[in-house]
Amino acid sequence: MPVFVPLETMSVYKEVYGNAPELISSAPGRVEVIGNHVDYNGGLVIGAAINRRVRLELGTNTSGLLRLISGLDARPVELPLRKTLLPLKGQERWANYLLGVIKKLQELGLCLESGINLAVSSELPSGAGLSSSAALEMATAVAFNEWAQLGLDTKTLVQVARWAENEFVGVPCGILDQGVVGFGQANHLVAIDCRKEDFHAIPLPPDTCFWIFNSGKKHSLVDSFYADRFGECQEALSLLRGAMPGSSHLALVTPSQLEEFQDRLPKTLARRARHVVEEQGRVESFMQALENGEGWDVTGPLLSASHASSRDLFENSIEELDYLVESLIACPGVYGARLTGGGFGGAVLAVTSPSFAEPEGRAISHSYQKRFGHAPQVIRLSPDEGARTDPI
Ligand code: ADP
Ligand code: MG
Repeated sequence: MPVFVPLETMSVYKEVYGNAPELISSAPGRVEVIGNHVDYNGGLVIGAAINRRVRLELGTNTSGLLRLISGLDARPVELPLRKTLLPLKGQERWANYLLGVIKKLQELGLCLESGINLAVSSELPSGAGLSSSAALEMATAVAFNEWAQLGLDTKTLVQVARWAENEFVGVPCGILDQGVVGFGQANHLVAIDCRKEDFHAIPLPPDTCFWIFNSGKKHSLVDSFYADRFGECQEALSLLRGAMPGSSHLALVTPSQLEEFQDRLPKTLARRARHVVEEQGRVESFMQALENGEGWDVTGPLLSASHASSRDLFENSIEELDYLVESLIACPGVYGARLTGGGFGGAVLAVTSPSFAEPEGRAISHSYQKRFGHAPQVIRLSPDEGARTDPI
């Protein structure tokens, strides 16, 4: 059966800390529906929070220690709370997603006097492009906001979480991940104007099904690929500014401006810029079509075109993802398919009608296994609510 079985969802809080947590929060993963690498280029992107969540339990201890555990293979971490939080290295690096948020919240008034116990459990694959990192950050932000009654609004918590990922973990991601994880709603997409940091929910057309096919090839955003592309986009913009001094963001350059000035860019940078500029056009067409009440028969092909651009121009796809996309779009009931998230591994998102079901998913899984020697994780998803506190 190809449908993905949840990861560890068992709480180990009580077992490890010996008492019950005082507060529980959870945050969803997210799919990037369209707008690949457009967020940090100041464009418009569309995503959806998904019904696979990271859960965080929080309680206190009297030892003055900040203690963090996770059910995944993560090494437990213990730090004295009176010391300034600094990023950890090696096997303790996973804790940086939480520590970065705590550090920023301390700057915004969070006061931790006694000790804190934290336990993470997750049903979200990590490193699959579904943003387990932003889910960890937002679950932490929401938990401490509630626990310490900080009164920060969702937008501020999203900014705190992004700060943690950019400055504490060291990944120069845009606002897409934390924004969708923060502002997600059941049966809605989330549109983000990344330049204005404006978030709004759009109802999902009826009878939409989301499927994830996870290649199992882990990307690691902390590694250099993502930062390389970020740097290339910065460089392309700075070269284009020679001709268009007022240009503030690559995603705001128009196709005709790029056409006119692309000779100023080395070939590789011209490809990266073309991807960003054209991807922005696809996101706008996607929004326009939704506003006009069009269905996935119109918007779906934009997803497949987005993948082709990531593959050929932005060059952040891999053979496994290309294979999944090609197999999926050849399949009846699939409106469109594309890599979702940073790329260089991770997962493919397919948007389908309800006629695409288990047997179709299984057929794709089998042919992938034949070709690559292992089955992909297959997950059927629906859009879910953003980060929140949960009943104990
Ligand atoms: P993605 O956000 O697409 O899942 P990232 O590379 O941005 O991929 O984030 C994955 C990292 O987040 C992991 O390497 C790990 O450090 C951390 N992480 C994710 N889920 C968990 C978890 N349940 N427990 C501990 N760490 C986790
Ligand atoms: Mg991530």
